[in-house]
Amino acid sequence: QAKNEGRNCFKYFSEELTRAARERIGIEFRLRQAIENNEFRVFYQPQLAIGSGEIIGAEALIRWQTAGGELIPPLKFIPIAEETGLISNIGNWVLKEACRQGKEWLDAGLPRIRIAVNLSTHQFLHSDICAIVANTLAETGFPADYLELELTESALMKREKEAIDILNRLHELGTHLAIDDFGTGYSSLAYLKSFPLDILKIDKSFIDDIPMQNDDMEITATIIAMAKTLRMQVIAEGVETPAQMAFLSSRNCDFYQGYFASKPLPADEFAAFLRQHVPDPVY
Ligand code: C2E
Ligand code: MG
Ligand code: MG
Ligand code: MG
Repeated sequence: QAKNEGRNCFKYFSEELTRAARERIGIEFRLRQAIENNEFRVFYQPQLAIGSGEIIGAEALIRWQTAGGELIPPLKFIPIAEETGLISNIGNWVLKEACRQGKEWLDAGLPRIRIAVNLSTHQFLHSDICAIVANTLAETGFPADYLELELTESALMKREKEAIDILNRLHELGTHLAIDDFGTGYSSLAYLKSFPLDILKIDKSFIDDIPMQNDDMEITATIIAMAKTLRMQVIAEGVETPAQMAFLSSRNCDFYQGYFASKPLPADEFAAFLRQHVPDPVY
């Protein structure tokens, strides 16, 4: 009986693996052509100040719309792009497109906001990211002061000394630096002190169960307090409800990003959102 179950289990897993492996190879193959075929888009999700309700920035988030019209979410292809090194091409494209768009919005007289771009570990450590950022800013004319770069804990922890050196050079260019998904990696708050970072983004998983989970509320409050001690600004990610907003406001969290304000939007819809936005000082 047990043996049989074991065998079924193995069969099940191997079928699953084959299916996953096949999907993976398919995606890798199609990724290679996607840039040339112009299948990537950048969506923008607003970031708002909790005190004034003003839009202070936008996060640039990649979208892959295949020629067949299929919309593939980033979590399905970014990890594959990362492992194959394709991420550098894709990430550089996102960086350039976001800067180009940001410059266009500045020139059009839209409210001046920061644009945050995600950098993958590979992009951060294995390409000359400082030169790439400098060239992109020069080519697009987007001011460095409006560009924010989001790094993950794993990117920073992998080669600490080198990471600090790269961060310092990115700072010298005038860009702002954020740590993304904070709390999901292995870095401690004390460890954070050694990195020259301006902004801390609290991972959505801590925000999700506010106000039901006391633990999550305490962790969130502690992260906010520690970030302030380190003179970093704090953004809560994935904010969806008024209860979450009330809690974050009571703990003096600076900014938030989430469906409560807006989902990530195509560029034209984001521009309209930015133009029409009436700040709500309650939040
Ligand atoms: P992230 O950088 O932490 O981005 C935030 C993610 O949370 C986005 O998912 C956003 O749509 C989602 N989100 C924001 N507010 C809410 C909310 O209130 N509720 C829910 N349920 N979700 C919310 P998205 O766009 O699917 O991106 C997922 C991840 O893919 C990103 O997480 C980032 O790690 C990666 N990614 C996206 N674009 C890029 C890129 O251009 N380069 C790199 N390296 N990674 C990217
Ligand atoms: Mg991010
Ligand atoms: Mg995040
Ligand atoms: Mg939770």
